[in-house]
Amino acid sequence: MVAHAHGNEGAAAAVRAGVHSIEHGTYLSDDTLRLMKEKGVYLDPTITALVDMSDPEGEYDNPILQMRGKAMLPTGREMTARAWKMASRSWRARIPLTLIRTIERWRTK
Ligand SMILES: [Zn+2]
Repeated sequence: MVAHAHGNEGAAAAVRAGVHSIEHGTYLSDDTLRLMKEKGVYLDPTITALVDMSDPEGEYDNPILQMRGKAMLPTGREMTARAWKMASRSWRARIPLTLIRTIERWRTK
């Protein structure tokens, strides 16, 4: 079971309810990340979606979504970096970061 949640409170509730994966997680706190790690919940930060939203020629070519993407992207990146730092080796396998970084690099070329 997967939950799409940007906000911390909703994501934490979903994790406590037993989801297997949090998509986005933009505003996750350290406490929620720790709980996810403890329960082995996947984190899919979907940074590429935020990058794409911010891009005027992206898949979501919409000025409102561009503002939203630009506002959320730095927080999403910061959260992902925090999650990566606190992740154990086994939990890192649950964060598809390599793929995200590859796609980001490809997009910025
Ligand atoms: Zn979503």
